[in-house]
Amino acid sequence: MNGPGADAPGRHTENGMREDGTTEADSLRSLALEARDAAYAPYSEFRVGACLEAADGRCFVGCNVENASYAVTMCAERVALGAAVAAGARRFRRIFLCTDADVPVAPCGMCRQALAEFAPELEVVSESGSGGRASWALSGLLPERFVLRPVPGSGPGDSR
Ligand SMILES: [Zn+2]
Repeated sequence: MNGPGADAPGRHTENGMREDGTTEADSLRSLALEARDAAYAPYSEFRVGACLEAADGRCFVGCNVENASYAVTMCAERVALGAAVAAGARRFRRIFLCTDADVPVAPCGMCRQALAEFAPELEVVSESGSGGRASWALSGLLPERFVLRPVPGSGPGDSR
């Protein structure tokens, strides 16, 4: 496990975005923590917040949303991804996760596949409840994602 590489020096603006368009890790963390606190997890009490950073610098948050019918439950990562895609974002550079767990937790298999659709090289940063951090390249977490050839002009790299 490596550090997230997100603490490189760089001037930042008031909203946490650097001049090069990247966002400070602390800003992503704050948004992910806020989302975690909004999580609906009455069954597992395992709260997750996610902040997905698009290539254009926009940030999209999600939290897990559990359901009495367990299989209906949505993970924070896919909730954030859905919000991003609905807003027109299709390229991403990083996702920051915050949980209450004892150790940093990596995304589940379904979320790995969902994120890899748009950003196979996504940087995944995860923080435990006590502030421990780990990071991975998504390609390392899911080396052989399932791929279908999209209809020309409608794939993840194409804007609509
Ligand atoms: Zn998941």
